[in-house]
Amino acid sequence: MQNLKLVSSSKQGKQTKIKVGNVVIGEGFTVVGGPCSVESEEQTIRTAEAVKAGGGMMFRGGAFKPRTSPYDFQGLGLEGLKILAKARELTGLPIVTEVIDPRDVSWVCEFADILQIGARNMQNFSLLKEVGRSPKPVLLKRGMYSTLKEWLNCAEYILAEGNPNVVLCERGIRTFETYTRNTLDLSMVPAIKELTHLPVMVDPSHGTGKLSLVEKMSLATIAAGADGLLVEVHINPCEAKSDADQQLNPEQFKKLMQKIRKLEQFMADSLFTTSITGGEPK
Ligand code: PEP
Ligand code: MN
Repeated sequence: MQNLKLVSSSKQGKQTKIKVGNVVIGEGFTVVGGPCSVESEEQTIRTAEAVKAGGGMMFRGGAFKPRTSPYDFQGLGLEGLKILAKARELTGLPIVTEVIDPRDVSWVCEFADILQIGARNMQNFSLLKEVGRSPKPVLLKRGMYSTLKEWLNCAEYILAEGNPNVVLCERGIRTFETYTRNTLDLSMVPAIKELTHLPVMVDPSHGTGKLSLVEKMSLATIAAGADGLLVEVHINPCEAKSDADQQLNPEQFKKLMQKIRKLEQFMADSLFTTSITGGEPK
């Protein structure tokens, strides 16, 4: 694709790997679990412990929440980040958290191991430039109305500022379908692998918005060849202050992790490590 100088796959086919604590994104299948929002210390720490016990490798949670209504819970801000830091201290799990304002990037970096750019901010170019100048890896979600090309151009903005550590995250797009919250576009996973060297994760929680669909779509993500999963987990989903309908409880997360491990073993079979290739990608 034109003008994607930095994100395009090299002729040598070298894939970007991102080391965060003990985890290397791009090596094996990385599972990030945690609540939509950091609501309280107790809810966050108990969820982080459940994610760790279930086999999750990183912890997610929003301290700044981009909500549709200004009257909905907006997140705990700095207090939330301090709680996330405590969760990391107790569990050892690296923290993925969203930043929504360019002015916050430098100090959010002190708490986050990975900076998340949410779907609504995918094309916030001043935010992209700011995280591009930060020392932390960036998880760039796909905008809900964005094409693959627009999304990859946003990753290019970050790399162009000097930050090579970008993970792309498919989280569903708006279509005419209303049964699901979004339409999870899993075809993006192999497409991204074809075009770029960047790792790709999938978020089936926002991608479907429905608890009953999250497990199946998580497993499909592995078959599609993704590098990992971002999944919402809450100690008590019914009481969640945001996205109550899509969060797994600890037991459901543990079961999902068991199935993921089994499927990973199955996919490691040599039959699945080769794929059909087509013409030159455009
Ligand atoms: C989130 O991860 O909690 C979130 C707000 O996601 P998205 O930006 O994909 O809607
Ligand atoms: Mn959410």
